[in-house]
Amino acid sequence: MKVIFHKKYTEVYAYDPAAEPGRMEAICRALEGAFEFEEPNSATDADLKLCHTKSHIQYVKEHNAPAYTVGKLAVGGAIKAAELAYDGEPSFGLIRPPGHHASPSSCWGFCYFNNMCISIKRLLKGEKIKRAVVLDIDLHYGDGTANIFSGSREATYFHPEGYHREEFMETLTRDLESAKNYDILAISAGFDRHENDWGRLLKTQDYQKIGELVKAYSLRNCGGRRYGVLEGGYNHEVLGDNVKALLEGLK
Ligand SMILES: [Zn+2]
Repeated sequence: MKVIFHKKYTEVYAYDPAAEPGRMEAICRALEGAFEFEEPNSATDADLKLCHTKSHIQYVKEHNAPAYTVGKLAVGGAIKAAELAYDGEPSFGLIRPPGHHASPSSCWGFCYFNNMCISIKRLLKGEKIKRAVVLDIDLHYGDGTANIFSGSREATYFHPEGYHREEFMETLTRDLESAKNYDILAISAGFDRHENDWGRLLKTQDYQKIGELVKAYSLRNCGGRRYGVLEGGYNHEVLGDNVKALLEGLK
C-alpha cells in the first residue's frame, strides 16, 4: 500500500475548508510510520484536457494561479495512484484540491480539476483498462464525476446514501455487489460523512469496513486493482484517524 503525497499539497491556494492550513498535516501525522509515501509528478495540460475544456483550464489558470499549479499536482497524484493500482500495488492519493465537483467546463465546491476522472481516463487511453467503477463515499454527490462519465460505458459511478450508518453500509454493499465486469475500483474518499464532521453519520471503524469491502470486491472482480483519492473531510481532529482506518481496510 502506497500513499501518494507531495509537500506542496500543504500550501494554502484558496480560502475554503479543503485548502485550510493544517488539514493535510493532520492526515500525514496519522499515516506516517504506518504507510510508505511516494511523490507524484505534476499532470500536464494534455492530461487536464482528457476531461476538461480548454476554456475551463484557462479560466482556472487566470482566476487562481496557485490552485491551477497545485491542482495539476493533485491530478498527477491521482494518476500515480491509478497507475500503481493497475500495476498491482493498492494506493491512496493523499491530494488536494479535491476534484469530484469538477465538470468538463465548470467547477465548484472547493474543486478545480477532476482528479479521479482524469486518472481513469489515462488508464483508458493507455488501453490498460476497459471499464472502471467509482465508489464515492463523500457526503456530497460528485456531480463532476457523474457528468464526465454520463452516458459512458467506461465507468460507473456509485454514491451510496443512508439515513443511518447501517443503511449507508447496506447501500454501499449492494452497489458493490451489483457491479460486474470492471477492471479497477477507485474510491473517491471523502470523510465529511463522519459523525464528528458535517454529515454526522459514520464512525471511524466504518471507514475500515469500507476499505475491507472494497478490497474483497477488487480481489473477487478485478485482480485486486484498487485505489483511492482524497475528496472532502474537514474536522482535523478526526480526519487522520478516518483516513488511516480506510487504508488499514484497503491495504
Ligand atoms: Zn464533501
